[in-house]
Amino acid sequence: HEVLGQTPRIISSGMHDAEFYRQVWKEIKIFGGWSGEVWNKRKSGEVFPAQQVITAVKDKAGKTTHYLSTFSDITARKLSEEQIHQLAFYDPLTNLANRRLLEDHITQAFASSARSKSYCALLFLDLDHFKHLNDTLGHKQGDELLKMVAQRLKESVREVDTVARQGGDEFIVLLEDLGQFSGDAAKNAQHVAEKVLDSISRPYSLTDSHYVLTASIGINVFIDHHQTVEELMKRSDLAMYQAKAEGRDAIRFFDPSMQEKAARRSEIENDLRQAIELQQFVLHYQPKITQEGVVHGYEALLRWNHPSKGMIAPMDFIPIAEETGLIIPIGQWVFEQACAQVQSWQADVETKNLVLAINVSARQFRHKHFVDDLLGSYAEFSFPAGLIELEVTESLLMDDLSTTVAKMKELNKVGFYFALDDFGTGFSSLSYLKNLPLSCLKIDQSFVQDMLDDPEDAAIVETIITLGKTLKLQVIAEGVETKQQADVLKALGCNLMQGYYFGRPAPLEH
Ligand code: C2E
Ligand code: CA
Ligand code: CA
Repeated sequence: HEVLGQTPRIISSGMHDAEFYRQVWKEIKIFGGWSGEVWNKRKSGEVFPAQQVITAVKDKAGKTTHYLSTFSDITARKLSEEQIHQLAFYDPLTNLANRRLLEDHITQAFASSARSKSYCALLFLDLDHFKHLNDTLGHKQGDELLKMVAQRLKESVREVDTVARQGGDEFIVLLEDLGQFSGDAAKNAQHVAEKVLDSISRPYSLTDSHYVLTASIGINVFIDHHQTVEELMKRSDLAMYQAKAEGRDAIRFFDPSMQEKAARRSEIENDLRQAIELQQFVLHYQPKITQEGVVHGYEALLRWNHPSKGMIAPMDFIPIAEETGLIIPIGQWVFEQACAQVQSWQADVETKNLVLAINVSARQFRHKHFVDDLLGSYAEFSFPAGLIELEVTESLLMDDLSTTVAKMKELNKVGFYFALDDFGTGFSSLSYLKNLPLSCLKIDQSFVQDMLDDPEDAAIVETIITLGKTLKLQVIAEGVETKQQADVLKALGCNLMQGYYFGRPAPLEH
């Protein structure tokens, strides 16, 4: 009698939105009924899942006079569905993913890494001497220990990573999105593995004793569909055995070159953090030559004078600096250094008009204080901003073009020039060219290198020079190594040239 005279609103849980009810009514209108699962509310206020059927009752004329609704509580069925799912995909002891779910995730990782061109890694982990401990502890305590290990494993990785139990004391971790460079990926995977070993080796307290465990980890870094799930597992497993063979409590990569890469990568990263303070950076200068053979200016190229590794080329540390964000202070250092150089040129009529180009990477340019930092440093000097040219690449134009253009314009207003570096290798459309405050196109060295043998490269070089003339931009060719190349470029009307033929990057004498 409590519900007599009431509307169904008294059992409404409030968990469905208006759109849901609109759909329900739409179906009832069209089909004369609806059935499905809804959340309803008990008298106590508790929400429960119900299987609900609504039917329109019509009179002889076909007009709806009533709606009849029946429902049943499906809480128990829902629970058992969940339990079945749990049993099918999860390890009952630890609640980690089981082998089947892991294989599913690996297959998905193949596809997504092929799309994103980002590396993944599989970590095979086996506890050291667990069997012995299990025998002395008894299986019940052994199980407790495995549960604690599982918990720590989960806490050592990100939410998106899959942690699975393979059975016994073997665990597998799938790491995704480790970066687009194999060296970064190896380092990142190693970093996670170290974190895992650290966490696992903390003492475990069981009843009244403490236990200590270590583990051995094998890593296989992968991308795309190059190997099958079985191969991937087998290789990680092999690497794990390698770690065991080399004394346990260790990490080994399946591919030894990955091991080296990871080690080198983290070494460089650590050293890079102190390189500015320790004054290990230097700029080398490479001349840019006019058609008349006069030095127009220089490009400043960064070198890292490492105390034990010697001179390190930018290609070996700039990507790391970009990834770690260290490119921001490093880039700022380059700019200030370049300004100081141009300032010192002002004292002499011979050098006073030299233009100095510096490279600015996309990550640096996108930093929100880039323009302010640059202008702030520039304010300390008193030479015309036009003596500094910023070389940027097309990758800068790949996203958020409007912000990029606004920043370029802001700097251009002060007087700084922009050159588009490595031109011809990008894949963006040419239409942006006329909207950018550019003053120079820099033909990528790969075209210059092959232009004498490869007619297609020659055609590209010629096209860029023509394009530059049409858009009233200067064109410079880089990587000019021979007299023949220089002669052809000059004949084609290329404004400036740069390359080993004219001079290698080196410290300045003046
Ligand atoms: P990039 O801007 O395209 O620089 C030209 C590269 O070609 C330089 O390599 C230069 O040494 C080299 N090169 C010059 N002439 C010739 C030649 O005739 N033949 C050949 N085969 N190579 C030639 P480097 O110095 O190793 O620099 C590599 C890249 O590192 C640069 O490419 C630039 O993208 C980046 N980089 C260098 N310095 C900086 C910097 O201060 N900041 C940033 N963000 N990137 C920099
Ligand atoms: Ca450059
Ligand atoms: Ca270049």
